[in-house]
Amino acid sequence: MEKQEDRRPHRLVLVLFPLQGHTTPMLQLGSLLYSRGFSITIAHTSFNPPNPINHPHFHFLLLPDKTHYSLNSGTPKIKDLESINLNCQAPLKEFLELQKQRTYSQVAGVIHDSLMYFAAAVANDYKIPSLVLRTSSAAFAQTYVALPRLLAEGSLVFEDSMLHELVPQLNPLRFKDLPVSRENMEVTLKLMDILRNSKSSSALIINTLDCFEQLPLFQLRQHFQVPIFGIGPLSRMASASSTSFLEEEASCIAWLNTQAPKSVLYISKGSLAMSDEKELREIAWGLVNSEQPFLWVVRPGSVSGSDWTESLPQGFIEHVGERGLIVKWAPQKEVLAHCAVGGFWTHCGWNSVMESLSEGVPMICSPQFFDQKVNARYITHTWKVGLELEGELERGDIERSIRKLVAGTEGVEIRQRAIEWKQMIDVSILEGGSTYNALNDLTEFLLTNKILPN
Ligand code: UDP
Repeated sequence: MEKQEDRRPHRLVLVLFPLQGHTTPMLQLGSLLYSRGFSITIAHTSFNPPNPINHPHFHFLLLPDKTHYSLNSGTPKIKDLESINLNCQAPLKEFLELQKQRTYSQVAGVIHDSLMYFAAAVANDYKIPSLVLRTSSAAFAQTYVALPRLLAEGSLVFEDSMLHELVPQLNPLRFKDLPVSRENMEVTLKLMDILRNSKSSSALIINTLDCFEQLPLFQLRQHFQVPIFGIGPLSRMASASSTSFLEEEASCIAWLNTQAPKSVLYISKGSLAMSDEKELREIAWGLVNSEQPFLWVVRPGSVSGSDWTESLPQGFIEHVGERGLIVKWAPQKEVLAHCAVGGFWTHCGWNSVMESLSEGVPMICSPQFFDQKVNARYITHTWKVGLELEGELERGDIERSIRKLVAGTEGVEIRQRAIEWKQMIDVSILEGGSTYNALNDLTEFLLTNKILPN
C-alpha cells in the first residue's frame, strides 16, 4: 500500500555502505531529512540490511550486491568495495528510471556513503545532484587530501625514528597517526582516489561540528570548492530508533541503575576491531586491579581463536562479582547517556567519539586502524578529553589509566573539559547554532539545487 509520505514532492535516495559505523549515521541523517519534509528511500545491499521495522517512515530499495564479503573480518577489502560498486549500479538506475515517470514526486538528490561512489555516477546520468556523506571526521578526510602532497614531496615517512614527528600542515597529527603504512598502500591509494572523485559531487556532508574541527573543515572547503555541511553529531539530533545489526542487551541499563554516579567505565571496541587472547587477559586483569565498576562489550567473534569470552582468566567472573558486567552488544547511546557512566574506553571509531562527546564522557583511547588514530590524537591533544593507551595493552598501564581518568585527581581537568565540549554541542544544535544552521542550509540546498547542467 502506498504510504502517505509517497505524496511528498521531494524524495531523497540515501545509499548505505553495509558496515555498522557507516549505516548508523546515514539512517540518522535520513530521519533528520524526513523531519524536514522529504520522502526517504534507503538503498541498501543484501549484506547487513537495516531493519525496516525500526524505520516505518522510510522506503527501502534492495541493491542485490552479489558480493562474497570479507568485510566482517576487519576492514573492507578493495575487491569487496569494487564488487559492490559494480553490482549495485543497475538496480539504482532502474529505480531512478521508474521515479522519472512519477509526476507528483521528484528525486531531489542522491546522498551516498563515500564508499558507495557508483551512486554519484548514476545520479549524474540522471542529472540528479549527488551528495557524499562522510561518516568519519573532517580531520580524517584532510589526511587524504594531504597524502598526495606528502607522496609527491617524498616526505611520507615510515621509519620508527620519525613516527613521532608532527606531519607538516597537519598539526596535531604525527606520522604514526596517519591512516597509511607500507602494507596498506593499495587501500590508501584507492581511498585517495575516492576522495578525489568527491570533487565532482554537488556537496559533502560530514558528521561533525564546526567548533570541533574548524581547521580541517576550512581546508576541506578550500580544497573541494563545493558546499560542505558540518552536521553533527547526527547521533544527538536524530530519533532514537535502533540501527544496530546485533541485538542490544538492554538489561545492562538495569545494572547501571544500581551503580554510583560517574563510577562505571564503559568499554567497547565497536563493530570491527579485534583482540587476541593475550590482550583479552590483560584487559581483564587491568579491570580487576583498577577496582572500578565496568560494563564491557565483548562482541562475539571479536577475540581471535574464541567464540566469545572463553579465554578470560579462570575465576575472573567470580572475582569481579557485581562490580562488572560483560555483554555482547550494548545500547551504546543509552549507556553513554546514563548518569552512572564516568568514562569510555574506546577504539575511537568516529560514531563512538561523537556519541561520547555528546554526553560529556571522557575517554581512554586505544585506536587500531584507519581513522581511529587520527580521532585519538584529536581527543587527547586538541579537545583534551581523553588519555591514550599506546602500544601493546598491558595490565599495569590499563589500571593506571582507568584510575587516572575515572577516579583520580589528574583526570579532573579532562572530565571538566569533556563537560565543556558537551555544552558546545548543546549550543550548536539549538536554533542559531552551527549544526542547526547547517541542516537548514542543506535542506535549502536540496530544495533549490536543481538538475545539473549537461
Ligand atoms: N555500538 C553499539 N553497541 C555496542 C558497540 C557499538 O550500539 O555494544 C555502536 C556505537 O554506538 C556506534 C557504532 O556501533 O554508533 C560503532 O561505530 P564506530 O564508528 O564507533 O566504530 P566502528 O564499528 O565503525 O569501528
